[in-house]
Amino acid sequence: MNRSLAFLVVLILVLTACNNKQGNTMTPTSTASTPDQFITEAESRLAELAIKLNRAQWVAANFITDDTEALSAEVNKEYIALTTELAEAARKFDGQKMSDDTARKLLLLKLSLTLPAPSNPTERDELTKIAASMEGAYGKGKYCPDGDQGKCLTLDDLEKVMRESRNPDELKKAWLGWHSISPAYKKDYVRFVELSNKGAVEMGFKDTGAMWRSNYDMPPDAFAAEMERLWQQVKPLYDSLHTYARKQLIKKYGPKVVPESGPLPAHLFGNMWSQQWGNIYDLLKPATGDPGFDLTKILQARKTDPKGMVKYGEGFFTSLGLPPLPASFWEKSLFVRPQDRDVVCHASAWDMEPAINDVRIKMCININEEDFTTIHHELGHDYYYLAYAKQPYLYRNGANDGFHEAIGDTV
Ligand SMILES: [Zn+2]
Repeated sequence: MNRSLAFLVVLILVLTACNNKQGNTMTPTSTASTPDQFITEAESRLAELAIKLNRAQWVAANFITDDTEALSAEVNKEYIALTTELAEAARKFDGQKMSDDTARKLLLLKLSLTLPAPSNPTERDELTKIAASMEGAYGKGKYCPDGDQGKCLTLDDLEKVMRESRNPDELKKAWLGWHSISPAYKKDYVRFVELSNKGAVEMGFKDTGAMWRSNYDMPPDAFAAEMERLWQQVKPLYDSLHTYARKQLIKKYGPKVVPESGPLPAHLFGNMWSQQWGNIYDLLKPATGDPGFDLTKILQARKTDPKGMVKYGEGFFTSLGLPPLPASFWEKSLFVRPQDRDVVCHASAWDMEPAINDVRIKMCININEEDFTTIHHELGHDYYYLAYAKQPYLYRNGANDGFHEAIGDTV
């Protein structure tokens, strides 16, 4: 994922939360008479529909067309409807005696939707269509600096500029160019938030944000307070880094480009979202900070191809004693941006069908250090998926979203 705000916020949350877990047509409401029966039945229905949803979303992200977008929106609507109705039906067991497992699963069921939707079918339909169309627009997004006549630049073209250029005007143009794509769907995004919040309220949360913040085994306000505590803890380090980065950037670009105070220009950090600064290590490294090698150059000198990059990632995980990736991973993943069609290139990991260990990654790999790191990150998701593939459906998830994102970066 990821690479985690307008729609970019959600993309960065939903995509950079690049962990594509989720996944109805309501068949008649469950007749289960005990909570345990109910949850067993619920899990089997959700698991089945999740596979269908994963397939629809995979195809929509890999072949962006109006049709694939509509199919993906349709199944997403079914999945949201099933989850919502099951969560609703589960209320009849409130206060009843049940096993700890079942109680936990009922809570997870309620929290499992990333995108809650209103129960009104027209509104639910509108929400899932907006979500699919914004994803399509993001994936197809191109910046055409010379208008329709000239060459148009994709996100990876623009990211290459961000990574390699040290010309502040060119960097600013690339940054502004990419950010000129999203205003077209700003109105959709506003509506998307409105409808999603309505769905969250119907499920008993203050809004979608509060629902997301409820996923950490503590009340949402306690989670916000905990985040604030952690932020205050690292803030002195962050302030020093920020000050140091300003000094180094002024050295490189001068005070006309980099102001002496206030925010630092986002286009100077080597990354479209300024979220990782590794690409400008040459500008920021301390005098004694030369690692002695340039990974990008080494990879290029070895003529590493995209598959070879992923093999390095797999080699890291097998060196820890984990199994090799299944054969289907190599057959079904996407490693290279196709020349003949639009795809969502934003790196992501997919948990397609746990029973047959069908995990994949989808990214448009370039041969450089940043993508080398991203591959390890995405494979961290995949290895985590494989590790919990045999769990019951509602337990097939990370301890929490943050933990899922951290696995590949930490191990
Ligand atoms: Zn991720």
